[in-house]
Amino acid sequence: MDLHTLSLSSLQARFRSGEASPSEALEALEARISSVDPKVGGYLSRNLNRAREEAAVADTSLPLGGVPIAIKDVINVKGDPCTAASKILQGYTASYDATVIRKLRAAGAIPFGRLNMDEFAMGSSTENSALQRTSNPWDLSRIPGGSSGGSAAVVAADEAFASLGSDTGGSIRQPAALCGCVGLKPTYGRVSRFGLMAFASSLDQIGPFTKTVEDSARLLNVLSGKDPLDSTSLETQAEDYTRLLGRDLKGVKLGMPKEYFIEGIDPQVDTAVRAAIRQYESLGAEIVEVSLPHTEYAVAVYYIIATAEASANLARYDGVRYGRRAEELRNLQDLYVRSRSEGFGEEVKRRIILGTYVLSSGYYDAYYLRAQKVRTLIRQDFENAFKKVDALICPTSPEAAFKIGERSGDPLKMYLADIFTIATNLAGNCGISLPCGFADLEGSRLPVGLQLLGNNLDEAKLLGIAHAYEQATPWHKQRPAL
Ligand code: GLN
Repeated sequence: MDLHTLSLSSLQARFRSGEASPSEALEALEARISSVDPKVGGYLSRNLNRAREEAAVADTSLPLGGVPIAIKDVINVKGDPCTAASKILQGYTASYDATVIRKLRAAGAIPFGRLNMDEFAMGSSTENSALQRTSNPWDLSRIPGGSSGGSAAVVAADEAFASLGSDTGGSIRQPAALCGCVGLKPTYGRVSRFGLMAFASSLDQIGPFTKTVEDSARLLNVLSGKDPLDSTSLETQAEDYTRLLGRDLKGVKLGMPKEYFIEGIDPQVDTAVRAAIRQYESLGAEIVEVSLPHTEYAVAVYYIIATAEASANLARYDGVRYGRRAEELRNLQDLYVRSRSEGFGEEVKRRIILGTYVLSSGYYDAYYLRAQKVRTLIRQDFENAFKKVDALICPTSPEAAFKIGERSGDPLKMYLADIFTIATNLAGNCGISLPCGFADLEGSRLPVGLQLLGNNLDEAKLLGIAHAYEQATPWHKQRPAL
């Protein structure tokens, strides 16, 4: 049996029965990475020696004992590079563990490997990485989605049992959909962001990529909870997110937001998602149509608020304290201007310029303030919907993975494809993407993602609903031929 193909839960079962050890699992994983990652390009680096030491002494009785978990390059792991896939942080080594990493370690897991992403998590294809290209394991000429493209690709390619990513406007759910794995964006405040490099602080959440819904719930058990180091993390009762797995769907009401079934969706995505909805009906769920009337403003609102916050957050990369500093400087101004001009890529600069503009005096009221007001309306849309239904059901992305390079010249087209994921970040509630079929495009078989959106702090229910579908369908068992 090839250990690398196992889900996290099945791997742990092997550990506990004595059939496999953490060291064997790590070596199997490393062999798999060496054989397929030259094609996929998900990993930026790995600290194999440290992982080997940790695996040798791992305590498999802990909740994630001995399981290697791969990490998006935007979450600090002490001693590892952390670059946000940006040249401005090339050479930077993290000096502390993010809270999620401390929690993983306390649960016995082994943070192993740094994963490629769009620079500072800005993008939907991982093409904005300044460091490396990542391919979709189902078709190497296509994008893996983004911004957590590496996190999704390595799980789909059996190069990781699970990984962490971050979701500001869909960056966990969309690449999970495009690569065919499970991606969970927890409720805003559910998981501490201490040690996550900030993109847009009112939107960012960390979450897991896994091969199964059960694994997602088990990771959330470890990751969630109040953290005094992140004042936006919520004080909530500890709960077991696996507790509703295996429940039947009788009495469960799912809402189809009519604004999420629109023209422009790829017909094969539409077909797969509608088939999933029928499957839910046959499992006993009731499907009702709901409306989120302010959806049409979500893209515009997001690209005002996210860029405004990014322009402030990225001011800290000035060549003085972190990362890259330009050489042969004439004065302080020159240091700032040249370090930033040389260090940031095109998309990051575009966002800083946009964000600075919408915050500037004279424009603040017209853009930023108005966007905040519309954000409240978007949040109310969700509140109203969740009065009527247990979860919303819709596509994660309007299309399957496109070809690398196909969109690079058209940022607006790229932004518009975020239509089904970003409203959730604006509202703060939780969402999950899971495999629901395939689209055949030009001879390639490409995964399609089903998105389920849950109310604030309703992850346990959301995971239960997702699990019922997963168990009734074959999609999560399919793997790309690499
Ligand atoms: N694609 C969106 C963007 O480019 C979302 C990114 C994210 O969630 N980090 O901003």
